[in-house]
Amino acid sequence: MTTPLDIPVAEIAAGVRIGKLSALDIVSLALARVESLQPQLRAFISVDADRAMNLARKIDEQRAAGREIGALAGVPVAVKDNMCTTFGATTCGSKILAPFHAQEAAHVVDQLESAGAIVIGKTNLDEFAMGSSTENSAFFTTANPWDVSRVAGGSSGGSTAAVAARLIPGALGSDTGGSIREPASFCGIVGLKPTYGRVSRYGLVAYGSSLDQIGPIARTARDAALLLSVIAGHDPRDSTSANEPAPDYVAALDRPIRGLRIGVSEEYFGAGLNHEVQATVRAAIAAIESQGATVLPIHLPHMKYGIACYYLIATAEASSNLARFDGVHYGHRTPRPADIIDLYSSTRGEGFGAEVKRRIMLGTFALSSGYYDAYYLKALKVRTLIKSDFESAFRDVDVIASPVAPTIAFPIGEKSDDPLAMYLADIYTVSANLAGIPAISIPCGFDASGLPVGMQLMGNYFAEDRLLNIAHQYQQVTDWHNHMPALG
Ligand code: GLN
Repeated sequence: MTTPLDIPVAEIAAGVRIGKLSALDIVSLALARVESLQPQLRAFISVDADRAMNLARKIDEQRAAGREIGALAGVPVAVKDNMCTTFGATTCGSKILAPFHAQEAAHVVDQLESAGAIVIGKTNLDEFAMGSSTENSAFFTTANPWDVSRVAGGSSGGSTAAVAARLIPGALGSDTGGSIREPASFCGIVGLKPTYGRVSRYGLVAYGSSLDQIGPIARTARDAALLLSVIAGHDPRDSTSANEPAPDYVAALDRPIRGLRIGVSEEYFGAGLNHEVQATVRAAIAAIESQGATVLPIHLPHMKYGIACYYLIATAEASSNLARFDGVHYGHRTPRPADIIDLYSSTRGEGFGAEVKRRIMLGTFALSSGYYDAYYLKALKVRTLIKSDFESAFRDVDVIASPVAPTIAFPIGEKSDDPLAMYLADIYTVSANLAGIPAISIPCGFDASGLPVGMQLMGNYFAEDRLLNIAHQYQQVTDWHNHMPALG
């Protein structure tokens, strides 16, 4: 049976606009579905049902009174719990922030709600977005809706599981090294990391500030385009936000893709890539080719240094960003500290989990005076080389196609004791963050056991419209995005 949660964002909003659907009914349905599936999926850290129902009631009243309602009016959505909201707590999946109540909402939350969307709650993540499975959350691990014994991916796994399980039609995640794209791929949905600066980071708790970017998560490219149109644009409160008007992403979806040049780099299909993932992604590239695009070989010689470069820069920035959690400014403070040093060290020792501590130590080491030149500075130079690889590739091709992750969703616990194996699996996603270019993950098939596989398309700066256009055209001739996990 189809419920309003099975229909796209645009249709929900259109239905609410003409009074065919009631915002209150849809939001109540979403809340009921979140509650009934939370024990299995653990997608949400918090839900504010009363607030969501009140907002929905208001939208129905405004419509009935003939007042203007926004482009996303009545659409229930959720945001990753590293984005500030003025309702409820913002935890970042960490014990150190408890209890932190933000004074202001993140820019993206304001944008969504000004357009009439209703943020029903905050989704689970790896602590401070550090991880690829939500296993580093201080609270619980989100399960994959396609197989609840497996991870949903991470760090935005709560948002992707919620959308894949049709609890909500759209959500936001953040992506520093793949955290929107990898869980989107593991959950069989669309996830877009925009160009660095395309979406304001105001109110996003920083992990790696030169890499972090917020983006939409949805079942279709059309819905992702609609969400991006609402959140993209300049925000003077984020000094890295691009002062460049956002185009109409929805209008760009219908452009023909005939004649587009798709670059394929064999560096993305090397050792370690699961055979079924490889075959599925290659078949998806062939499908785009049969829609009239041309596939061309390209070379990205420095992409093999991506992991080393990312784990130096991201941890260096994290060690600096996370210095603010000191027991004085925010959240947790150790009871009865002996002195000021004990206040800092006990607060941080009690509040941070193992992975966050590991990264603070790695980053502090890379920035320390004896090693700065050898590690941090070197990583910055390699970052420039990775960026110039992409710049020269985009002289010859319009987009680059690759896998998103080397494997399908792995079993919960499989890699949790092996941080290095977890890091290495970010091989295909981190380069886009290092270069600052946009990249999308699109569902492109299933492996023999029925688990989803994603394809990544990377584009030139501010070419989100092109990525969404190709993804949309691909979804016109395939139906991977219509498959549904068999949940209650
Ligand atoms: N998996 C990567 C990491 O652990 C990416 C995380 C992210 O994008 N936030 O750092």
